[in-house]
Amino acid sequence: MSKDTYHFDTLQIHAGTHPDPATGARQTPIYQNTAYVFKDAAHAAALFDLKEVGYIYSRLTNPTVSALQERIATLEGGVGAVCCSSGHSAQIMALLPLLQPGDNIIASNRLYGGSVNQLSNMIHKFGWSATFVDFDNVDHISKAANANTKAIFCESISNPGGHVTDIPAISTVAKSLKIPLIVDNTSATPYLFKPFDHGANIITHSTTKYLSGNGTSMGGAVVDNGTFDWSKTDKFPSLTKPEKGYHGLKFHETFGPMAFTFYGIAISLRDLGMAMAPQHAFQTLLGIETLSLRMKRHVENTETISQWLENDKRVGTVNYAGLKSSKYAALVKRLYPKGAGGLLTFTIKGGYESCVKFVESVEIFSHVANLGDTRSLVIHPASTTHRQLTTKQQELSGASPDLVRLSVGIEDAGDLIRDIDKALSKASIK
Ligand SMILES: *Cc1c(COP(=O)(O)O)cnc(C)c1O
Repeated sequence: MSKDTYHFDTLQIHAGTHPDPATGARQTPIYQNTAYVFKDAAHAAALFDLKEVGYIYSRLTNPTVSALQERIATLEGGVGAVCCSSGHSAQIMALLPLLQPGDNIIASNRLYGGSVNQLSNMIHKFGWSATFVDFDNVDHISKAANANTKAIFCESISNPGGHVTDIPAISTVAKSLKIPLIVDNTSATPYLFKPFDHGANIITHSTTKYLSGNGTSMGGAVVDNGTFDWSKTDKFPSLTKPEKGYHGLKFHETFGPMAFTFYGIAISLRDLGMAMAPQHAFQTLLGIETLSLRMKRHVENTETISQWLENDKRVGTVNYAGLKSSKYAALVKRLYPKGAGGLLTFTIKGGYESCVKFVESVEIFSHVANLGDTRSLVIHPASTTHRQLTTKQQELSGASPDLVRLSVGIEDAGDLIRDIDKALSKASIK
């Protein structure tokens, strides 16, 4: 598939897939299969030595998952992608080739709540740490960095606060520190924002969200655009020094721009084992076929609803970067010409109790810990996803106790507004 000549709407349907060579089946088969027959002993040896690319065992590669990997890499403009079992495993896969025990990353203090937990607690078990700073002020990033800082991590549009990160500015900092910029592009999707066009080096996704789109399948992806020169410094020994697990093979020297992607398959998936199930890859491929159509509608509905909420007296502040009143309006105009996504938050004047009543009173909106579904979803972060965080961390990540997040679906906008209106009436403390 010629990546240069086809547009997004064509690539989201065709990239990575072909009629099945065995049967002519037009839709990608679900290769519900664990192991692949070797042609002979020499073929097996070549595959195990990474001298030949092919299928060995589905913990490493599976044809349905490979089709999805190629589609996501194409849509993001990367040289390779590795899919895995969830967005959280994608984040570990993004860091594993870069960090040694004692190393750290600088992360935005506005991240998905689960990512804050993962990066502030769990990664200590690997001997890694994260320093969280406010990415609205890029000086904070370089000030927090030291000789052991190996990456910068942020979300393009951050969940749940609807903050927009100035990726071009952050990428300038990453370049000056000679470390890669990793962008979690889950909330924006490659339809609304292409991090590689703005200086990012690696992209992570929770494909669980907009890419699959139906709330059916957990999944993650790590994409690399192959432009970071791992050998330029001695900061990244996993990619440049001999790898014991492969007879002293050096990933960057051997695979060049594909080094990061091959490491993801040959080391991360092989040894950590967070493989994506073929059924999930299939459902995610189906979802991506309509990504642009859905994102357009998510944006339209979110713009309509956020404007309506801004004029409602029961509501305090409305945070949606797509609003003219947003402090991110200029940044959105520059970086997000197709809109600022489908997530918004707002505060209810009645506070914590009113928020709880609101989420219990909506009918069309489902009260769930998820986003990016065709269905409209609602959550009160302070009593759910951000419950484990301190009040200060909650406020910093845009999840104060009086705040509700909507993941606006693709239903009829008028119906959604009537639902919100009724629930606000029930929630307002008399
Ligand atoms: C959901 C989410 C994740 C984690 O993904 P899972 O698939 O749930 O593991 C990471 N980042 C963002 C922005 C998310 O919304």
